[in-house]
Amino acid sequence: METVEDVTRMRLVGGDLALDFVNTRSGPPVGPPDDDVLTGYPELTAWGVHAGALTQAEATALRRLARDDPAGARATHSRARHTRDYLDEIFRSLAAGRSPSRSVLARLRDDEADALGHAQLDRAGTFGWTWRDDRTLARPLRPVVHAAVQLLTTGALDRIKVCGGCRFVFNDESKNRSRRWCSMDDCGTTEKIRRYVAARRTRATR
Ligand SMILES: [Zn+2]
Repeated sequence: METVEDVTRMRLVGGDLALDFVNTRSGPPVGPPDDDVLTGYPELTAWGVHAGALTQAEATALRRLARDDPAGARATHSRARHTRDYLDEIFRSLAAGRSPSRSVLARLRDDEADALGHAQLDRAGTFGWTWRDDRTLARPLRPVVHAAVQLLTTGALDRIKVCGGCRFVFNDESKNRSRRWCSMDDCGTTEKIRRYVAARRTRATR
């Protein structure tokens, strides 16, 4: 079983909260994922803290709430996974140059309406949505859903890409839009080694 510690080892390479949420499942570029860190409600709150969507105090309060309402916590964990499924579908479609279906966009709209229904406008320079006073189990999902809408409505959609070496999605913020890997330390390095070995093999057989 995953521990809360495993969640905090998850790399945040998406460049966006919604994409990092999609990346809580990892694995090869095609086929089913081979790892999932969202194994339960406590892991969802731990990921929220790790990704900067929740404070430690909020996470602690939410875990207490979850202990008092195990059925609600299970339902929210299941909702989180469904949310991740449709966000995955939306951003993977865009990365492949396709438009997401109307039905997944409608789900996102409904969840955004729900998220904003629990938000307040707080001033930090300009005004922005915060969930400081939201004491509901779905609190960790609110900023994720809102980030997805923000990315869709104000982001450069042609910058949304899938890693060439794994299933991670990311927002390519490089100047010339040339980023191909979730991270140079992982998939980028693996690819460099692969090319090096291939080139050496070619030289050796000449
Ligand atoms: Zn990768």
